[in-house]
Amino acid sequence: MAKTYRAVQASKPGRLEVVERELTAPPPGKVRIRVEACGVCHSDSGTVEGQFPIDWPRVPGHELVGRIDALGSGVQGWTVGQRVGVGFLGGSCGYCEFCRNGDLVNCRNQEYTGIHHDGGYAEAMIAKASGLVSIPDDLSSVDAAPLLCAGLTTFSALRNAPAKAGDLVAVLGIGGLGHLGVQYARHMGFEVAAISRGADTAELAKKLGAHHYIDSTASDPAVALQSFGGAKVILITASGGKTVAATFKGLRPGGVSIVLGVGPEPIETSSLDLIFGSRKLEGALTGDPATADATLRFSALSGVSAMIETAPLDQAANAYAKMMAGKARFRMVLTMA
Ligand SMILES: [Zn+2]
Ligand SMILES: [Zn+2]
Repeated sequence: MAKTYRAVQASKPGRLEVVERELTAPPPGKVRIRVEACGVCHSDSGTVEGQFPIDWPRVPGHELVGRIDALGSGVQGWTVGQRVGVGFLGGSCGYCEFCRNGDLVNCRNQEYTGIHHDGGYAEAMIAKASGLVSIPDDLSSVDAAPLLCAGLTTFSALRNAPAKAGDLVAVLGIGGLGHLGVQYARHMGFEVAAISRGADTAELAKKLGAHHYIDSTASDPAVALQSFGGAKVILITASGGKTVAATFKGLRPGGVSIVLGVGPEPIETSSLDLIFGSRKLEGALTGDPATADATLRFSALSGVSAMIETAPLDQAANAYAKMMAGKARFRMVLTMA
């Protein structure tokens, strides 16, 4: 077996380069994965543009699927040859206050994949066993990859939301996250309203399962949502504080806006809109590994899938640039074969 593997590393802000690296054995509690596919996510910019403090060089990528080819000591429950995935959260510690309360997402000692340690833009990667996700046989590695971050984030938020079957759920933004959010919301049994800019997204939104399409450039999305009775949940997958504020009045009393998209703008809502109607504004960070397992199983059972464009690993820089330019429809996935 080869002693080296190819990886694409960020060597300084904005620069991605293909390099050859030495294979190393997995340390205790970790596994080595032969990566087969890795999604390109907007959060990779945290590494590539250095928005997080990065210890250069760093391999980005937190939507990877591959097969375990070596186990570190003490790893239980996983076997060599098993197909696994790793998402944004690198694996919980098991002993901090939050882990002890069962809140693995907010583990105090959790690293972020591709940020604090090398991620999936590579033919091989070392991953913490507690962060691994199992991949159902009927999902290809390419199809499963984007579900580990974009899929998990939208699925987990909807699954933990207070909406019941038949309730109106709105998805703001039809991009990498939103095009999955609409499909999950439809398959979970909600009445689904998709909100985006422009009339040309209407057809796609309906195809993804939306019952209603609201063009936010042509009408006030809050008024439109209220005309359907008001949303129980609004999934905010677009960044931008003004867009969050513009939809907030579309919530019915007791409804919640869940922010999933990161942006620099502050979010402004009026205290009156919060108080009268007991509305809520909250954030949600991806999900825990068990919910990731559920995301993949649910996706396979219901036929939810990301719209994908693949690129070979050595084209990672181009794939990343295309995603950053907003030209990916809708998820770029790097393949290692
Ligand atoms: Zn991501
Ligand atoms: Zn912990």
